[in-house]
Amino acid sequence: MIIIVGAGLAGLSTAYHLSGMPYRLYERESEVGGLCRSYQTNGFTFDYTGHLLHFRQAEIKALVERLLAGKLQRHARQSFIYSHRTLTEYPFQVNTHGLPPEVVRECLMGFIATLTQAASHAPPKDRSFKEWILDNLGDGMAKHFMMPFNEKLWRVSLDELTSDWVSWLVPKPELKDVVNGALGIKDRAFGYNPSFLYPAEQGIKVLPESFLPGIDWLKNGVELLEVDTRRRRALFRDREQGTTRSEHYESLVSTIPVPELVRRCTDFPEHLKQAAEKLRWVSVYNVNLAVSRTGISDKHWIYFPESAYPFYRVGFPMNFSPSLGREGCSSVYVEISHRPDERRSVEQLVDEARSGMEHAGILRPDDELIVADVKDLQYAYVYFDRHRAKAIPAILAELERRGVHSIGRYGKWEHTSMEDAIGQGKQLAEHLRAQLVQPASA
Ligand SMILES: Cc1cc2nc3c(=O)[nH]c(=O)nc-3n(C[C@H](O)[C@H](O)[C@H](O)COP(=O)(O)OP(=O)(O)OC[C@H]3O[C@@H](n4cnc5c(N)ncnc54)[C@H](O)[C@@H]3O)c2cc1C
Repeated sequence: MIIIVGAGLAGLSTAYHLSGMPYRLYERESEVGGLCRSYQTNGFTFDYTGHLLHFRQAEIKALVERLLAGKLQRHARQSFIYSHRTLTEYPFQVNTHGLPPEVVRECLMGFIATLTQAASHAPPKDRSFKEWILDNLGDGMAKHFMMPFNEKLWRVSLDELTSDWVSWLVPKPELKDVVNGALGIKDRAFGYNPSFLYPAEQGIKVLPESFLPGIDWLKNGVELLEVDTRRRRALFRDREQGTTRSEHYESLVSTIPVPELVRRCTDFPEHLKQAAEKLRWVSVYNVNLAVSRTGISDKHWIYFPESAYPFYRVGFPMNFSPSLGREGCSSVYVEISHRPDERRSVEQLVDEARSGMEHAGILRPDDELIVADVKDLQYAYVYFDRHRAKAIPAILAELERRGVHSIGRYGKWEHTSMEDAIGQGKQLAEHLRAQLVQPASA
């Protein structure tokens, strides 16, 4: 028996690709999707912050397009940065035109200096995120976007973060692109996601739900309590009935966050338990608002690097699909990061979000909020720091030795997308299927 824990995209994809094999899929919540969910309130649909589809793997793109045939729309990305009371296009490094001339000059001169000066002495793999920014983009772009934006998002000094995850998320531009961007010349879309796909209706939840017809066995409202990796037994609790059940497994696929999984393993080496407890991450308050005024923005989303704004990004669901709100109204999601143990009240968060949005000219003082709702995304962005670099490979290898495959964004403790979660589930299912068909002794 294969036991799968968590029906987010990684768990659903594993189950879907194991079809016909003996498996059980358990999910703690009453619905599937994990982070990739949507909910409705007062006639508006919100995702757990905006979830847009970008693809780099042809086979996952083909799978999603088959599962959601006729339900996806392609959008040319309208993502902007608001600073110096000016909107400039994302990404910052190739779109400084329109900012005050002295800012453009600092960004340009700083970038040129990276091409002529020696980089930091640290070998690339040991470079901190801050060193990576200075070495690759220069001190002007660091000062005017990269440092304030990332410090606001991560809530930690960028010296503490490593740079091994950065290069595909933050591409280094060529000088020509930076100069064109400073002069306002456009000759190609820069960045890894100049367009994206999004469901025409009902929000991103249609993606996880599209796996359901291909799932043979799923139980919602059941949480993993304990794993005895020596006897290969997992203990679950039905949250509604309060009953527990113990299951034997040959393989356990876990998609829950690594610290949560390791804490539940009753017989795991103590030094790895301690290492798992020291993993760090940042949480996100997702503040969802709606007003009875149409067209508060024509953008998809906007980044806010400046400290005058409490949020690092806001987005406009009805610009992904008008069906996500009521006619004559507008909705907005606001992302405010916080340390996992830091708590703020709903009233405080809504007040902060609202006054920041007024300050940015998106909301007006006389706009009445017809939705003001907050979700707390406990695990949002994991820290790539020096501890993670050592701890994660050791923890994952030990879990594998004990028949536990930890996958997904928080199961591998990484910055990955919906596409990656689906891809990891597919890859693992194919591996497990091959193992069951051809046992190791064969
Ligand atoms: C703010 C934010 C914005 C994002 N935007 C995008 C985007 O635009 N595009 C994109 O491609 N990706 C985006 N992502 C990433 C994307 O959400 C994830 O890569 C993907 O949803 C991860 O799926 P998963 O299955 O690995 O994990 P999860 O979705 O976290 O699934 C894990 C599941 O395990 C369940 N679970 C937890 N504990 C237990 C337990 N003890 N017992 C049983 N079940 C349990 C949870 O309820 C959950 O359903 C974003 C992420 C964040 C944080």
